[in-house]
Formats: sequence, structure tokens, C-alpha cells
Amino acid sequence: MSTSTSDIHEHTLAGPAIIAGVGVHTGRRTRLSIRPAAPGHGIVFVRTDVKDRDNRVPVSGEAVVKTQLGTVIANADGVEVSTIEHLMSALCILGVDNVLVELDGPEVPIMDGSALPFVQLLDRAGFRRQEAPQRYIEILEPIRVEEGEGKTAELKPCDRFEMFFEIEFDSDLIGRQSVDLVMDEETYRREIMSARTFGFAHEVEHLRSIGLARGGSLENAVVIDGDRILNPEGLRFADEFVRHKALDAVGDLYVLGMPILGRFEGRKAGHSVNNKLVRELLANPQAWRVVSFERELAATA
Ligand code: ZN
Repeated sequence: MSTSTSDIHEHTLAGPAIIAGVGVHTGRRTRLSIRPAAPGHGIVFVRTDVKDRDNRVPVSGEAVVKTQLGTVIANADGVEVSTIEHLMSALCILGVDNVLVELDGPEVPIMDGSALPFVQLLDRAGFRRQEAPQRYIEILEPIRVEEGEGKTAELKPCDRFEMFFEIEFDSDLIGRQSVDLVMDEETYRREIMSARTFGFAHEVEHLRSIGLARGGSLENAVVIDGDRILNPEGLRFADEFVRHKALDAVGDLYVLGMPILGRFEGRKAGHSVNNKLVRELLANPQAWRVVSFERELAATA
């Protein structure tokens, strides 16, 4: 097993990180402040606009309450935070374990529809090593879930975090695409972080008609109309679509609160199947264990 020194301790940010933008569904401008937190704290969202109920929403597999149009978490008082997945993806890959994420609205800003603005934000804030061993979820036995139409997600034993993802759309523009990567920081920065979310023009019209996608635009999503991309700048990668699905899966798995040592395989999967997999994993404690690298930690102390 190879781990770099930075992987054996927990990390937080060196200072606060602040960003603002619109929510893709609410269309509301939201300010997000990510603040350093103590070892063992985990990732906790705080809705500063909610005063009459518990406004802390800790991230966990069970906190995920909706997955149709993004990943939504809620606390016991029903206070929700929407569209957490791109920020969670960036936090996972940059090895950030403990932060308080304050926001003054119900939805994390969509920014450009990728994880790039969050990676840049976290890079600017800097990282601080903490005196607690980094814990990982090591997959011991395969876990697999499925939904209709061939949607599957699985985790298999592997001594590093690998990801295979395959999508197939009835659209000549997308067709069948797949990625198979070692999901480390270097690969993520090069291949994954700037891949944007996408949608179909006819779906956008429907979402608008039911009061969603109010903040959605060509500034924050790739929009497909038949066999055309409506965005004048075109695509960032020829297979940007499947790369974004991999970006989403990294964030959706990180609600577990620890990075994974294992291989993820997703086929036509999305937020719903990803969370089903997280819950299946939690329901099968024999299939995984929590590990850290205390021996290496002692050796480097
Ligand atoms: Zn996404």
C-alpha cells in the first residue's frame, strides 16, 4: 500500500474560504464560508439564514434525503442543504476532513457547474495538517446495488481509490462513454475537476415550469439540444459528460466522511444509485473496515 505523508493525517483549512454565487435550482445568490474545524469534527453545513430551528446539518450517508436533481442533505428538524456534491467532491480529493460550511441559503452555489471553482477556493485558503490519523474505509467484500434501466453501482476491494464509470445516452452527442482512473489528486485535477454538469434543453424547460433550474444557464451547465451543444464555447473534454458523472460519484461517496480504499464501478449511475450504494455499505459492516496508518504516523513523528 502506498500513501503519501499527507494522506496519514487529518486535514482542515489554514484559514477561511469565502465564495458567492447562485443556486442552480433556487436561482438565489448565496454566500458560502468554509471555516477550519477541529480533528474529528467532520464536514458540517450551517444554514445561517435559519434561526427558528437547529441550523446545523452534519454530512452523513443517512442525512441524504433527496437525489433527483442533485444531492440534498437534511437534519432531524428538516433543515436542508441542496447540491452539495461538487463541493464534497473537491473536499474529498483535496483531503479536507474537518470544516464548517456556513451558507445563507438552502443551496450550495453552482458556480460554473464543475468542481474547479471549489478546488481553486480551497487551494487559496491552504491546508493545515492535524494531529489525528487519517481514517479510510477499506472495502473487504464487493457491494453492489442496482435500479431500473441498467443503473448499477458497486464497490470492490482495491488498495487504492479507483473509479470506473460508464454512461449511455440515447443522444449521438453523448452515446456511450467511459472512464477508468486511479482517482488520486493529480488525476482528478487533470482529468475530472473541470468537467461541468449537463442537461437537455427539453428537460430544462420542464424543470423551469415546475419552479426548478431557475439559476441554470449556459454559464453553469452544458446544455444539449438534439445533436447540438448550445454553449458557444463548446466542451472542455470530448467526453466531459462521463467525467462529470465521476466527479459527482466522488462527492456522493464522501458523505461517508472518510476516503475509500476500493474500486467504484458505476454504470448509468447517478446520485440516487450512489446513495443507495452508500446505504448498502453502511448496512453491511462485514464488507468494510476503518483503517489508518498509525505505524507510518509514528515513524514520521
Ligand atoms: Zn454534478
